[in-house]
Amino acid sequence: MLVDSHAHLSMDAFNDDREEVIQRAFQSGIQAILCPGEVTEAENLTRTLSLAEHYPNIIASAGIHPHQAKDFSEDALRTIAGLAKKGLIHAIGEIGLDFHYNFSSAETQIETFRHQLRLAENLKLPVIIHSRLAEEAVAQALAQENFTQGGVLHCFTESFDFAQNMLEHNFYISFSGIVTFPNALAIRETARKLPLEKILVETDSPYLTPVPHRGKIKRNEPWLVKETARFLADIKQLSEAEFARATTQNFEACFMFEIKNL
Ligand SMILES: [Zn+2]
Repeated sequence: MLVDSHAHLSMDAFNDDREEVIQRAFQSGIQAILCPGEVTEAENLTRTLSLAEHYPNIIASAGIHPHQAKDFSEDALRTIAGLAKKGLIHAIGEIGLDFHYNFSSAETQIETFRHQLRLAENLKLPVIIHSRLAEEAVAQALAQENFTQGGVLHCFTESFDFAQNMLEHNFYISFSGIVTFPNALAIRETARKLPLEKILVETDSPYLTPVPHRGKIKRNEPWLVKETARFLADIKQLSEAEFARATTQNFEACFMFEIKNL
């Protein structure tokens, strides 16, 4: 048993074989998957919600991704709030700041991020944060909004100090296949030092296929979370089963969701 804390199953990359990808995941022992939905892309959001409706152990989140920050609207916030009130989403996200791609200006990204932090605080929902080369600005926004709901820092690539700071804000740190890449020394060191009770594991499918499938399997998918989990278990000097049990419990606690026995 294992969970994938972040898989973009509603992206077009899975249009041809979405059901098979999901069955493959369940058959290889993946118990639950969080699928983030894009509020600013109607089709993506609809697909996300219908996956969560069809599969008892697929849960949805919704948010305005930092890449789409410029598409912010009050309407989008109302959509998120409506879904939350109906119990259809378990988190707001992914949200955050990306100062690597800078698809929207820093100011716009920060504004959109803070709007969604405020909403999550009001709704008492955790958030899924994307932070790329943006750790200081993310920390500042959390502090300015007095954000207390916690959540997950997904696809971790930032510094150990930032990870520590996020733990103090009640966040889990989620590692993707990046941790398996040859040059990810600092990320592996952070994984080694962080407490097991605060670690999650994800694919970030369809991106970031982990070693040893990297270069061979182009499109990442949830069953491959096994490779990243095995790698992390090794770093933590745990058995795969112990690591899987802990990250599954963390997933349930983080998203306030009880995995169904099917
Ligand atoms: Zn992301």
